[in-house]
Amino acid sequence: MEQQNHDAHADLSPRTKVVALGRPERTPGASLNPPVTFTSTYVQDGPVNYARVANPTWTPFEEAVGELEGGRALLFSSGMAAVQAVLALVPTGGVVVAPAAAYNGVVVSLTEAERDGRLSVRWVDVTDEAAVTDAVAGADLLWLESPTNPLLEVADVPGLARAAHAAGTLVAVDNTFATPLLQRPLEDGADVVVHSATKYLAGHSDVILGLTVTADDEVGRGLHDRMARHRTLGGAIAGPMEAWLALRGLRTLSLRLERACANAADLADRLRTHPRISRVRYPGWGAIVSVEVAGDGDGAAEAEALTAGTHVWSPSTSLGGVESQLERRRRQPGEPEAVPVNLVRLSVGVEDVEDLWADLRGALDSLG
Ligand code: PLP
Repeated sequence: MEQQNHDAHADLSPRTKVVALGRPERTPGASLNPPVTFTSTYVQDGPVNYARVANPTWTPFEEAVGELEGGRALLFSSGMAAVQAVLALVPTGGVVVAPAAAYNGVVVSLTEAERDGRLSVRWVDVTDEAAVTDAVAGADLLWLESPTNPLLEVADVPGLARAAHAAGTLVAVDNTFATPLLQRPLEDGADVVVHSATKYLAGHSDVILGLTVTADDEVGRGLHDRMARHRTLGGAIAGPMEAWLALRGLRTLSLRLERACANAADLADRLRTHPRISRVRYPGWGAIVSVEVAGDGDGAAEAEALTAGTHVWSPSTSLGGVESQLERRRRQPGEPEAVPVNLVRLSVGVEDVEDLWADLRGALDSLG
């Protein structure tokens, strides 16, 4: 049945897929949505014995995201749990090439793993293709995030994946900011895609979840099996209610993203004209905009005041929800020093753009 579903949906637009995938078999009287299975165990002699290995509530969400990314997904308890499953693929003493300014949980994990002698890291500017090409020689893993959080640097994923593969290096891409509706790294040559499903995929700031997705080929299947084993033994599994909520959230991904991206493009233009904004970072797509706030000194105090001065925008960490959020990133411990102290990351939501602008402009104007 699963295979039939995949075939039936293969030619549909991703906008339709987010609505249609992961549904129960269409039989008279069947429910439209999958049920939530709360169980820790199963009656013996079935395909699975214990719910740390699998839960039928994970499956529709995994199938939907796998199909959207063009591979096979594994659901984890958080984005960081998915990250750790990928890092566990690196052998002890191995080498990882990673962006100098990526999501701070990844940077801190790699820094501590290097300090503990587990692996070594070559930090790179992911926009410098020659530097990344040099760095991947002899490396085990190229970790990419594109766009990066929060500097919004965009990597040439196909070019870097080619360079990495020529060196025999595995390629992982954190696709959290782009989502499979804007970028499909497996098609660009990546071996593993990682998501914090906490963000756009679930989309309502009410769950913490993560995913890995690997290609449905021999290499991909090997990676999938190793990460599934890591999940079972590490135990970083999703609760069934969270998995169900994430699938429910996924239904509106296309609508949410369409509005949020349009709002972001509009706000990036308006922000460029404000005298209190010294720099707007926006790659021209996506729904995250980072701004640098001009101040008397380094601008950090003014950036804090901006985040404290809004009413519609929520001053909170995280991103990708329907609600607009903003945060001065350097207030987070472990945030890389490459991130300017006056940088505020705006996660643009789906509200009316005029309300979002009026709120931001009001807070910026009141900085004086
Ligand atoms: N990757 C990126 C790009 C993120 O922004 C985050 C969280 O902010 C993560 C991974 C980690 O995800 P989670 O918070 O779901 O563990």
